[in-house]
Amino acid sequence: MAYKMDKTLSKGAFDFIDAPGIAKLLSQKKEDKFLYREIFAKSLEKNPLTLDETASLLAIRSEEGRQELFQAARDLKRIIYGNRIVLFAPLYIGNLCINDCAYCGFKKSSKTTVRKTLTTDEIVSEVKALEDEGQKRLILVFGESPLYSPDFIANCVRTVYSVHSGNGSIRRVNINAAPLDVAGYKTIKAEGIGTYQIFQETYHRESYAKYHPANTVKGDFMWRLDGLDRAFEAGIDDLGIGALIGLYDWRFEVMGLVSHAIHLKDKFGVGPHTISFPRIQPANGLELDLPYRCSDEDFKQLVATLRLAVPYTGMIMTARENPKVRNEVIHFGVSQIDAGTHLEIGGYNEKKQGQSLEREQFQVGDTRGLDEAARWLMEEGFIPSFCTSCYRSGRTGEHFMEFAIPGFIKKFCTPNALLTLAEYLEDYASEKTREEGRILIGKEMEQIEEGPWKEKIKERLKKIAEGERDLRL
Ligand code: SAM
Ligand code: SF4
Repeated sequence: MAYKMDKTLSKGAFDFIDAPGIAKLLSQKKEDKFLYREIFAKSLEKNPLTLDETASLLAIRSEEGRQELFQAARDLKRIIYGNRIVLFAPLYIGNLCINDCAYCGFKKSSKTTVRKTLTTDEIVSEVKALEDEGQKRLILVFGESPLYSPDFIANCVRTVYSVHSGNGSIRRVNINAAPLDVAGYKTIKAEGIGTYQIFQETYHRESYAKYHPANTVKGDFMWRLDGLDRAFEAGIDDLGIGALIGLYDWRFEVMGLVSHAIHLKDKFGVGPHTISFPRIQPANGLELDLPYRCSDEDFKQLVATLRLAVPYTGMIMTARENPKVRNEVIHFGVSQIDAGTHLEIGGYNEKKQGQSLEREQFQVGDTRGLDEAARWLMEEGFIPSFCTSCYRSGRTGEHFMEFAIPGFIKKFCTPNALLTLAEYLEDYASEKTREEGRILIGKEMEQIEEGPWKEKIKERLKKIAEGERDLRL
């Protein structure tokens, strides 16, 4: 039976995007070296920035200013976050869609899109293929359709967690789906999901109306803007926000994302867990005139500014970006990336070369496999991490924990990253990656202070080499 959505907004819902205020700040601010350096210092002290301060960073236009901004973002990443990058993969469950978002390959008016929803057996087989590559964290992605009811989504989550191929298991399932009502979110939360992600696409109402027809469910700006507030009311405190960059001025979208983060923090006491900033990619049947396309240079400024504005929030850079962009931007404070990504529905089992646009939502920019991506990260000085420890030990709001508890990253995050990397190397890595990984683990262990805690980590590494799995701190 089709799900009947209760269209009640969250308690006290209001449009928290002050568009005229944002436009005024963006037009008034001028680049000011002394001011932006003060703002960098504030951010490096782990303080979130105000909208006014964010606008001051967005006013930076000179090459000198941009280079200083990039350096501040790199410093914040290194000093505050350490050198882990968490890896995940998206799993597209179905592309039926009742909406008609102009930029999307799944829009209902697209006649050439091959429509498909995975059956339970097909989900099992996709998850097996993902586990056999070494993936531990997935995000399930859905179009919007009455078929994709909360019960349906909950079933998919249950199926994913039930699959175990060899030593493999999926230890965290995140969701990217349409906004739901409170009861719907509760149904899904009961299956033990991680983050619920909803991208606002654009925070600029007029542009929103341009790309999302008013006679579609998604045409309702406020229903979507309030989507994560309802999720929180349903008990989901792990929320992911995002904007689709290219629909309107990227500086406005940064201000929108920061407004959203401030709103959630003010209303619920917890900010978003992650921020995503996907740039529009070619999609099946997409012939969009995009006057606000964001260049690679501007994209770097966007990511660096966000890093400094919301120091407590994880940042996700997806495989929409090509390797060249990913190589550079990863240093500006990104904390999670997807790798080994296939967007064709059922694509993880096919393992074929090349992409077929009529079966995927958009074109992937970075097609490197997980093994290659893990090696790339290590060569860039990062520890590829598959850690899901906090979430599974009931330490929710894991990102907050990292900062709130002094020494937490050193004590838990880095060792857990090493333990999950060690498992990956044993079970899935190529010879070359395994070799590089072992050297990296050795070097990282040298940095850890001698004592009982280090002995505990050593002992776990030894057990992993002997075949034990899922050893965490
Ligand atoms: N259908 C749900 C929705 O719209 O919220 C679920 C997510 S949709 C499958 C995932 C996200 O992909 C969208 O929120 C949008 O930001 C992004 N997206 C859509 N078309 C895209 C394109 N051509 N290039 C890059 N990202 C795109
Ligand atoms: Fe449907 Fe989501 Fe694509 Fe819009 S972005 S057409 S809602 S799948």
